[in-house]
Amino acid sequence: MPASPSPDLATATSARADEFAPSANLAQLQESATIAVSIRAAELRAQGRDVIDLGAGQPDFDTPAFIRRAAAEAVEAGATRYTHTAGILPLREAIAADATALSDGRLRYAADDVVVSSGSKQSLFNACFALFGPGDEALVPVPGWTSYVEMVRLARAEPVLVEGDPARGYKLDPARLAAAATPRTRGLVLNSPCNPTGAVYDADELRALLALATERDWWVISDEIYRLITYEQPAPSALAVAEDASRLVVVNGVAKAYAMTGWRIGWAVGPTALARTMTALQSHTTYNAAAVSQHAALAVFAQPDEAARAVHEMVSAFRERRDAALALLTAEAPALRVIPPAGAFYLYLDVSHGAPGEDDPGTAVARRLLDEADVAVVPGAAFGTPGWIRLSYAAPLPRVVEGVRRVAALVRS
Ligand code: GLU
Repeated sequence: MPASPSPDLATATSARADEFAPSANLAQLQESATIAVSIRAAELRAQGRDVIDLGAGQPDFDTPAFIRRAAAEAVEAGATRYTHTAGILPLREAIAADATALSDGRLRYAADDVVVSSGSKQSLFNACFALFGPGDEALVPVPGWTSYVEMVRLARAEPVLVEGDPARGYKLDPARLAAAATPRTRGLVLNSPCNPTGAVYDADELRALLALATERDWWVISDEIYRLITYEQPAPSALAVAEDASRLVVVNGVAKAYAMTGWRIGWAVGPTALARTMTALQSHTTYNAAAVSQHAALAVFAQPDEAARAVHEMVSAFRERRDAALALLTAEAPALRVIPPAGAFYLYLDVSHGAPGEDDPGTAVARRLLDEADVAVVPGAAFGTPGWIRLSYAAPLPRVVEGVRRVAALVRS
């Protein structure tokens, strides 16, 4: 047994620990608010409080059985070692074929254009780090997912927040991007369906944004992680409308559509030279994504009928919850502004009237919801809009209904 440190040494160590200041790389870093909310909800549950967690952007379903089986078989067959840094070849080939098919064959992707990573979050980070650097600006949508800003900053570039059009579900348009651009703009992030609003860009809207990017020679990182989760129309991929894909990176993964958050598999598809750079970056950071998880993700492409059935079932459940939540809000809090989501599994609510006089009404309301009503939601400040809160309806229907009822009651009061 190791000897315990002398009291003097222990004191010295903790005093030094208290003095810790992060390097300049992380001086501005904020912890992910979406994750912090889930951790807090889990802590409170562990203390015995029956918290309804509408914070986590995580499907509550089990990963479909055909995927779990494929993973188990892969482990038995020896998928326990390092893989190619960019991912196993059959998975990269399948992703490339899917990307080509999404473009109707207009764009031709091959395995060398694909980098598989430990979640689409790593893919997005790789793309930001490879594309943006000191002196660059990157246009980031507001409201928009909390990590885009941090990733651009980690690349030591400047995120420039561009608010979407309130009349169109806060979607971006070319005029808003152009107004925010400077000669230092090097690219932008798109996200459809959008986290946190659930807004979906149609083909024309997407085409107009991509055309502007091409005209200005900007890179576009298109985060399509919610693409298969839609309620009205399918969400077009940027690959389906891009005239010129030489500055386009499309990021996707299996986490949301296939209830595979814990497997950590995402990918980026883009020009070969960029894929090579992102692979080199990954070769020094995480190496390859978990081998067994890659085989699990491969099952999605190898068994498309099973995959489509699974997505259909889960999206039907999300739709039922979305409809129930919207109906309840209309009935019980008609004055509350909500963006009816056409995709993803979030409800974005304007609670700026719920905490008058507060600088950050969303955080104040979220705190009260947790303290007084045992409901966890994410404050809108995490998405660049402090007047709002985000509710995830990726939770069982009765929990969503009860959670929304409590939100409505608190906001009314
Ligand atoms: N993307 C999900 C969310 O927005 C999971 C947490 C995270 O990665 O931010 O809640």
